[in-house]
Amino acid sequence: MSNEILSTLLKEYEQKKTKAEIDLINRKNRLYESIPRLKEIENELNKFAIETTKNILNGNKSDLNLLNEKINKLKFEKQEILKSKGIDLGYLKPFYSCTKCNDTGYIMNNNSKVMCSCLKQKLLNEAFNNSNISNLDKENFSKFNPLLYSDEVDIAKYKFNISPRKNILTIKEKSIEFIENFDDPNYKNLLFTGNSGLRKNVYI
Ligand SMILES: [Zn+2]
Repeated sequence: MSNEILSTLLKEYEQKKTKAEIDLINRKNRLYESIPRLKEIENELNKFAIETTKNILNGNKSDLNLLNEKINKLKFEKQEILKSKGIDLGYLKPFYSCTKCNDTGYIMNNNSKVMCSCLKQKLLNEAFNNSNISNLDKENFSKFNPLLYSDEVDIAKYKFNISPRKNILTIKEKSIEFIENFDDPNYKNLLFTGNSGLRKNVYI
């Protein structure tokens, strides 16, 4: 199930990323129509980038400085043109919804690929929505009514030497204690056990 959710989310990410990149192409095309020099600069920058790569691969370092100089000059000219038109440099970059992972869902951390916080949050939201605890405005401690539980101690009936009410009040108390200590790494987890439809016991 969680794999299915992850692959659905990753498909959404891919679509978002592609959309941001297509939007950029359209934005650039509109801008280049009104300022053709910007298009020329981009073509020249692309050409120089290829030349730079070729020189690096061939171990030819002598031309690299000259190429760098030309690249910086063009970048400066581009910046000046944009500035004169009151356009931010970011306008020529894709508008990703997450600037940390550029809508890929993953980031590099110490040379390894890890899930970005945006994807983690989406997975948590999905898990929360698919759980039966998403109805928190109706199902919460303030709506808790212990009177719904019998006050009778009946070992034969309940298989327990305390009443269901006392039991549920202990569960409530332990649950609140768990929530209050949630950030404490030394505090143990809660485990609810029992067959479906029966009263649950709680262990810490
Ligand atoms: Zn992200």
